[in-house]
Amino acid sequence: MQTDVAILGAGMVGICCALHAQARGRSVALVDRRGAAEETSYGNAGLIQREGVYPYGFPHDFGALLRYGLNRTIDAHYHPSALPRIGPFLWKYWRHSRASRHAEIARLYERLIRHCVVEHDALAVQAGATALIRRGGWRKLFRTERERDKRFEEAARWKAEFGVNFQALDAKALQEAEPHLAPVLAGALHYTDPTSAVDPQALALAYLKLFRERGGHFLQGNAASLEEKRPGWSLRTAEGPVEARDVVIALGPWADVATRALGYDLPLAVKRGYHMHYRIAGQAKLNAPSLDAERGYFLAPMRGGIRLTTGAEFALRDAIRTPVQLGRAEPIARDLFPLAERVDPEPWMGSRPCTPDMMPIIGAAPRHPGLWFAFGHAHHGFTLGAVTGRLIGEMIAGETPFVDPQPYRADRF
Ligand SMILES: Cc1cc2nc3c(=O)[nH]c(=O)nc-3n(C[C@H](O)[C@H](O)[C@H](O)COP(=O)(O)OP(=O)(O)OC[C@H]3O[C@@H](n4cnc5c(N)ncnc54)[C@H](O)[C@@H]3O)c2cc1C
Repeated sequence: MQTDVAILGAGMVGICCALHAQARGRSVALVDRRGAAEETSYGNAGLIQREGVYPYGFPHDFGALLRYGLNRTIDAHYHPSALPRIGPFLWKYWRHSRASRHAEIARLYERLIRHCVVEHDALAVQAGATALIRRGGWRKLFRTERERDKRFEEAARWKAEFGVNFQALDAKALQEAEPHLAPVLAGALHYTDPTSAVDPQALALAYLKLFRERGGHFLQGNAASLEEKRPGWSLRTAEGPVEARDVVIALGPWADVATRALGYDLPLAVKRGYHMHYRIAGQAKLNAPSLDAERGYFLAPMRGGIRLTTGAEFALRDAIRTPVQLGRAEPIARDLFPLAERVDPEPWMGSRPCTPDMMPIIGAAPRHPGLWFAFGHAHHGFTLGAVTGRLIGEMIAGETPFVDPQPYRADRF
């Protein structure tokens, strides 16, 4: 098959890139080694995080470092055996998380984040999928007044600098908003502008359906078979070879499979995470997705039940699964909200594709004409899928990008 653009990876990022390249008159083949959105874009918490202007940094305060070092927290876990391999990444990540540098990064990152809700809404309308997007934001729940007030102050700063809207709820207001949460909380920060998917994979599949209805091809193939064939690229798929002038690498946590083979040594790592669905006991209801901020797990009401997602696990991508954070979070979550039995036969695991400066890599590959990078979105790949897709579509078409893509280029490393 001859096509203008081949997109490698059919997660949320790849599917959005495919739609946007197609919208600019390009013929597009989207290629994945398995079904669409069956990996990280399947199992996330579904948030489209308009408030996420500060990408998640590495803690710098001594208390947190000590807690994480002991490896008994819910929000972070690590494999000691992985430290020699991921140590250099963690060191760079820690350095980029220094307060002044983190603030600098937030100013660059916000330029992407500010468009996330609008760009997803635009695709969801075209795909007839707006029913999959819940309005009304999400909440950070606090157990102590000290943490609550600290985060209220932080939210006020984000509001002043970036226009991130929020409501500060005290214990009483929170209890009124969420009567089925145990009355053990000191209040909550309610970010009102974000949206969330009630079934993240279904939203991605709705976008894929739109892409196919518009003549796009979705094929099975392995990105490892990519070869440069000037003036373009060639790739083997189940339906025969695909030749394309432009190729987009949107392989999320597997991006290195393709980039290394082409000689790029990018500082990529993963933060793994787990989820489990629970049936809700009785008539209880959770009205908004909620983070138990001082315990470090997330409860997302979804079509398949309450999805409990865990924080970061620092490990090698393909190392054995160790869902200890889920085991630690479950009893605490049950005390907070009436969860009934588990729905899934076993915990799901996915890997957030990370860079040390917490920003994605979006743009032209430095040394190969016709090669584009769209990966490394860490905690916000679902959030930024549609924004990334638009940027890549515009760059491939030679249009002026709606956001200056300079800060996200690959050769910053
Ligand atoms: C527990 C958890 C909670 C999260 N919550 C949120 C959230 O609320 N909001 C948010 O914005 N983000 C969230 N994230 C992060 C988000 O899910 C990811 O950033 C995002 O899904 C990455 O999308 P992607 O398309 O880049 O990668 P993926 O969805 O992983 O897609 C990559 C694709 O590449 C394919 N592939 C891999 N290797 C090959 C190969 N050799 N050949 C061909 N194809 C290949 C895979 O099959 C896959 O389909 C969360 C992540 C986790 C783990």
